[in-house]
Amino acid sequence: MLKAIGFILLGFLLMELSGWFIHKYLMHGPLWKIHKTHHQPSKSFFELNDLFSLFFGGIAIVLIFLGVEALDFRFWMGVGISTYGMLYFFLHDVLVHRRLKWFDRPKNSWLMGIFKAHQAHHKTNQKEGAVSFGLFLVPKEYFKKEEQ
Ligand SMILES: [Zn+2]
Ligand SMILES: [Zn+2]
Repeated sequence: MLKAIGFILLGFLLMELSGWFIHKYLMHGPLWKIHKTHHQPSKSFFELNDLFSLFFGGIAIVLIFLGVEALDFRFWMGVGISTYGMLYFFLHDVLVHRRLKWFDRPKNSWLMGIFKAHQAHHKTNQKEGAVSFGLFLVPKEYFKKEEQ
């Protein structure tokens, strides 16, 4: 049981870490052609950038498929990656970008921090000069209480 939780957390953590790295060095690098569809206004509901979500989702499905019989680390890491993906969808696609209008602007200060950090990432629609590449791993300053 403990092992399962450990591998779920590992899958989750690896997603944020590799996601940060991929976003900063590949998406805002050689893969900018795909990722820029997320930084520029789009006419349709789907963006070419959604390919990244499909890619990570595909990895999770393969891992779960390979590990489901033995219920080994592959299965649990697949579960961790899927959990990350779902949370990413709710926080990034729904809460921040409002692709589905399920929530209003967050009141919770942690959610507000995530929100502001990702908005800061979108201040630019260019390949260069973007900040705050993670979803959870973002500079502390965004979580400071708002003075109004
Ligand atoms: Zn970006
Ligand atoms: Zn975004």
